[in-house]
Amino acid sequence: MGKLDGYKVDLKGMASDTVSYRWQADNDFFSAVQGPEIKAGSLDVALRVKRTSDAYELEFQLDGDVEVTCDRCLEPMLQPVEAQCTLHVKMGEEYADDGDVVTIPEREGIINVAWNIYEFAALQIPLRHVHPDCPSLASQEKERESDPRWAELKKLVNRK
Ligand SMILES: [Zn+2]
Repeated sequence: MGKLDGYKVDLKGMASDTVSYRWQADNDFFSAVQGPEIKAGSLDVALRVKRTSDAYELEFQLDGDVEVTCDRCLEPMLQPVEAQCTLHVKMGEEYADDGDVVTIPEREGIINVAWNIYEFAALQIPLRHVHPDCPSLASQEKERESDPRWAELKKLVNRK
């Protein structure tokens, strides 16, 4: 059994029109998914699956923290994640993902949402992410203070 088999959602076999799932996506999850940006984290994931006449609506609620690399010092930092994301799934002949709708083979009727959860979490990471108190920012501040050119500039300013 694969490490991410627990993230399989059986759409074909839904007992009622709405089914709920809950997962704790932890460090093991992120190391199994092997995504490029997030290597560790702790996320509460809730999923509500709604069956409509011709498709399935998967509503994810993500809550927690993920570990990413700080843009400045390249050390790990925690990024809070709180998001609601929706995935539309249809049954078809072959697997397909056009960005808005995922089609899964009807003969299987099962979708593994591990990668979708990862992607939804990764989407929440701001383009630029830096520790609020990044040590590299603090050392840059000090460098500026001790920079002789800066001292000269200060003298000029003070002369006025
Ligand atoms: Zn940093």
